[in-house]
Amino acid sequence: MQDKCGIVGMYSSNQSICVAPYIYYGLFSLQHRGQEAAGISTFNGEEIMTYSSMGLVGDVFNDGKIEGLDGNVGIGHVRYSTTGESNPENVQPFFSEFQGGSISIAHNGDIINSVQLRKEMEKRGHLFKSTTDSEVICHLLSEEYIVTKDMFETIENVANRLIGSYSLVILLNDDLYVVRDPKGMKPLVLGEKNDIKMVASESVSFDVVDIDFVRDLKPGEILLLNDKKESRIMKAANSEKVAHCMFEYVYFARPDSVIDDSSVYDARLKIGKELSKIAPVDADVVMPVPDSSIPAAIGYSRESGLPYGEGLIKNRYIGRTFIMPTQEERELAVRLKMNPIRSELEGKNIILVDDSIVRGTTSLELIKVLKDVGVNEIHLRIGCPPVISPCYYGVAMASKDELIAANNSVDEICDILGVNSLAYLDINSLEKCIGISKDNLCLACVNEEYPTKLPESSEDYTFHRL
Ligand code: SF4
Repeated sequence: MQDKCGIVGMYSSNQSICVAPYIYYGLFSLQHRGQEAAGISTFNGEEIMTYSSMGLVGDVFNDGKIEGLDGNVGIGHVRYSTTGESNPENVQPFFSEFQGGSISIAHNGDIINSVQLRKEMEKRGHLFKSTTDSEVICHLLSEEYIVTKDMFETIENVANRLIGSYSLVILLNDDLYVVRDPKGMKPLVLGEKNDIKMVASESVSFDVVDIDFVRDLKPGEILLLNDKKESRIMKAANSEKVAHCMFEYVYFARPDSVIDDSSVYDARLKIGKELSKIAPVDADVVMPVPDSSIPAAIGYSRESGLPYGEGLIKNRYIGRTFIMPTQEERELAVRLKMNPIRSELEGKNIILVDDSIVRGTTSLELIKVLKDVGVNEIHLRIGCPPVISPCYYGVAMASKDELIAANNSVDEICDILGVNSLAYLDINSLEKCIGISKDNLCLACVNEEYPTKLPESSEDYTFHRL
């Protein structure tokens, strides 16, 4: 399973405040959403300056690079390649010059029909320098803006042509526009303090730079982030069903984030408690697969009265396994990143709490590690329903053939992984834990009810094609 990107945008009404350092720290706090590349664009009073490169935020930027990005308005991006290859041409923000001026864009999400849109534009003479859907959006916006000369109208017209998920920060000359798709699939929050207004994928970005959380952007909202904060809701949002990604709560987002009024930490604690109620089992200790499952394991322990313990120590200096681009790298990463504590595990019966099972390869490796140090019984408890269908909205889980739960029963998975018991959280319990009606959640990867049209063939889908 691959992660999604993280975006930040910032405007200061005090012209002497340079936003690049704030954006840098905001991106730092979103590093869990993408570790392949990072970039920042700012408007320095005359032109948009962009610096981006492959690597972690701390490696891409140094003091000199940040000082070179002058200006009181800017955007930033951390990337994982859900669409397009992992290479320098695909890093964001995308910068382009056109008749209307300069535009820079950072995107979190995935556009299902970007291959068709790109082909249409290529026929009209557009040249593309990357293989991502974000550049397709950038070209669509510049083309439309030349006609309308009005950015709100431009964004709405372009949005009507996009199928998929998108949270966007767009720098058009010195104007910062912020967009959340009409289904609100990707998170996007607004913060403010004194002269500064900020948007980010997650509220943790505000915490690190001491900005006050204001609100989530509404599904379908277009916001011009200047002194007036002009906002408009796209007409399409009236007819669209909201579909917040449930995986943000289960796994992707940082536990200290609050998304669409629901605390991620709280949701994960409740997930553990619910698992304990619906799938109780006697054991010596409850253990998380670190780090994202820690709150759920604490919840399970509190509800069951069984002690909480740590049996696996995570090496925090390497990336999350699912975010590694190839299968070989992912398998190696599991062995590199999780080290067992033999004294805490040998001869014990453990309840192992994990957030999800996708292919099952990571779980299989972990179970091997635990058995090698002499764990007696392993009871696996999973904080979301079985993943049975791929995601087309920015979380590339590969094909249905590779999803272990799409092709095996719970008992079969239990046998494949070699655990003594296995239980998943059900959809109704998940809804209760997140605190958002399932009518307003995307649950497509666990119930196959996709909130948008799907590509007619894999040929048409950007992730497989480009
Ligand atoms: S299909 Fe799954 S991972 Fe993708 S957006 Fe929907 S809930 Fe999130």
